[in-house]
Amino acid sequence: MDKIKLTIDNKPVEVAKGTTILQAARQVGIKIPTLCYMNLEGMGVENRPGACRICVVEVEGRRNLAPSCATDCTEGMVVRTTTPKVLNARRTVMELILSNHPKDCLVCASNGDCELQDLAATLGIREIRMVENAAFSTYRKDYSFSLKRDMDKCIICRRCESMCNDVQTVGALGAINRGFTSVVATAFEQNLSDSPCVFCGQCVAVCPTAALTRTDDTGKVFKALADPTKTVIVQTAPAVRAALGEEFGLEPGTLVTGKMAAALRRLGFDKVFDTDFAADLTIMEEGSELLGRIGGFLNGDTSIKLPIFTSCCPAWINFFEQNYPDMLDQPSSAKSPQQMFGAIAKNYFAKKSGIKREDLVVVSVMPCIAKKYELTRNEFSSDGNRDVDISISTAELASMIKMANIDFMSLPDEDFDHPLGESTGAAVIFGTTGGVMEAAVRTAYEVFTGKTLERLEFKELRGFEGIRTASVDFNGTAINICIAHQLGNARKVMDGIRKGELSFHAVEVMACPGGCIGGAGQPYHKGNASILKARSQSLYREDAAKPLRKSHENPYILKLYEEFLGQPMSELAHHLLHTHYFDKHHKI
Ligand code: SF4
Repeated sequence: MDKIKLTIDNKPVEVAKGTTILQAARQVGIKIPTLCYMNLEGMGVENRPGACRICVVEVEGRRNLAPSCATDCTEGMVVRTTTPKVLNARRTVMELILSNHPKDCLVCASNGDCELQDLAATLGIREIRMVENAAFSTYRKDYSFSLKRDMDKCIICRRCESMCNDVQTVGALGAINRGFTSVVATAFEQNLSDSPCVFCGQCVAVCPTAALTRTDDTGKVFKALADPTKTVIVQTAPAVRAALGEEFGLEPGTLVTGKMAAALRRLGFDKVFDTDFAADLTIMEEGSELLGRIGGFLNGDTSIKLPIFTSCCPAWINFFEQNYPDMLDQPSSAKSPQQMFGAIAKNYFAKKSGIKREDLVVVSVMPCIAKKYELTRNEFSSDGNRDVDISISTAELASMIKMANIDFMSLPDEDFDHPLGESTGAAVIFGTTGGVMEAAVRTAYEVFTGKTLERLEFKELRGFEGIRTASVDFNGTAINICIAHQLGNARKVMDGIRKGELSFHAVEVMACPGGCIGGAGQPYHKGNASILKARSQSLYREDAAKPLRKSHENPYILKLYEEFLGQPMSELAHHLLHTHYFDKHHKI
């Protein structure tokens, strides 16, 4: 590979051809501030439109300042990153951005976690000399299920556009117009709910301001908790415990399962349950469906469609319904763990506890904002009463704990309540890419072969590459598996399957980077892949430490089948735990 020698701030640097000044500076520990630039390391996601001009540097022999994110290094280049000219330019750019930005930082959804605010402080902006009259905004605010869009706060960095179009290939957001009138918008300026948006929220996760934020449902939860006529129960998704601690200053990947259960109890929930219980239930249903289809296929039943696709991720299901309506019979009909939990809570736990369905409030804590949308789907309610009433994100839970003045760090570790709080290690790893499939394989192998699985960890299904394939030996039968995370990768797999170029027995898809650990309801990953990897490793640690690691060994799941459901895929199980999909091709 051709090497290039240059100096940055008098430091000699040697880099490969094609390296930008920004990348070269970072290699030698020189920090250049950025705003529109975004790099999801190791995931092939890079946004460098050179639009904001915050990262400008001085290059000897060049009259104009150069955007370091979009300028390649050349041999002998002499770069200076902090000259008065550079600092002045960055401050002027920031002042111009702030000149037509709303000045409501104290009450802004991103207050305290805003890259624009941080950068303005770093650049020492203490007054705004140029003020454009932003009082008469022409932009409508858009509240769509789980997303809030406030274009007055958009700085046209276009990170959301990169995420929506290049990474997720959803195509809901794009920049329109030119110059002063340019804005990021949906086609025809629809609300996101009318656009092809799938509510993965990855645009929110990378927005440096509050132009795109998640909606806040904490008020609804506090209101339910204060209502003496209601029994309020809560379920927490696997990925939440791997990230909640970050909101309290702990290192990414610190597991706070016990403190989280204690905090929920202090907040006043009547029962603290675990979505992991429902993840084990998902494996029982989805695994049975998988084995039924593979068994039928191997016996020559040509009506059986393979591969089977996982159905835990509501953003993926939206994407699927819009883009692959010709394959609607292929995803597993199993509901997501959030919705399975809701169905069991309202139809089993409520009866068992003598609580009327309408007096039971089911709250979910999710790493995900698509779940806020999912619970509103008509098929997940009965006579207008939803199976899951309110979904809040990891970040919203942290905010509730802080609002209630609970000293999170001094809480003892507590357990979940029973019966819907018991889970196995297989359920815990649902929170990371490849985890659903690994959990399914642990159960499906034993059911298919009738043998005990000796090797529980399927390392071939783990990792962070966007598309991974593996063949798992089911006692002489090779089961071919594909795992994709991020919807652009899913599209590549789906197009290959549709064209007949790819063939698998089972495919797992998760919409977010790294799976749910990178969900938009988590503390924002800001493009830092090491945070996602640390969260993922913590879930594997929790799995390894669990006494039971296969879903079909969860004693409370076995009891649920014995007392109530009968067996996996029974008529009642089908009625409560399975769903169907719709053709939404008209949305794209
Ligand atoms: Fe939600 Fe997880 Fe899907 Fe992301 S991957 S949209 S967090 S279910």
